[in-house]
Amino acid sequence: MKLKRLSLIFRYSTLIFHYLSRADAVYKWKISQNNCPLCGKSYFISLGQRPILIRCLKCKSTATNLSLIPIIKEHINGDFNKVVYELSSYGSTLDFLKSHFSKVATSEYFPDKNSGEFVDGILNQDVQKLTFNDNEFDIITSSQVFEHVPDDIKGFSECFRVLRKGGGYFSLCRYMTLKKQLR
Ligand SMILES: [Zn+2]
Repeated sequence: MKLKRLSLIFRYSTLIFHYLSRADAVYKWKISQNNCPLCGKSYFISLGQRPILIRCLKCKSTATNLSLIPIIKEHINGDFNKVVYELSSYGSTLDFLKSHFSKVATSEYFPDKNSGEFVDGILNQDVQKLTFNDNEFDIITSSQVFEHVPDDIKGFSECFRVLRKGGGYFSLCRYMTLKKQLR
């Protein structure tokens, strides 16, 4: 089995286990109808009180996606002619970006490979030393990436370097549990 598939299966399994470990008992789960920023009118399932436990049943968006997408839309103000970089090769945020922007770069991080190298068709990028040129992107997005980056300031600096003037960097991560990265 290829490295890419193994890596994604491991990542998905870890995320699903972590996600469900926070859920309430099944009889407490709720389903409600609402407007999804990504796919329109839809049904949402809530597995507990915390916002992170809400998910769109149609497009599978999580609270993370549901938070990022409206902010990105507000930033671009209807101008979808942007060059975008998402620091992941899957997920609802990426689905949104690919369906709205024509130029979308993606990557994953394979620590034992060189930054800039392709691994089973996926671009490997270490956010601490991106191989992109200066001023290459209008928008950069990431979800739950920077809490795993050893030198997050270097990573932010690299994102700033490859962003064009007036560009936007949209990120969500869980800093509150990692004291060593609080700055
Ligand atoms: Zn949706």
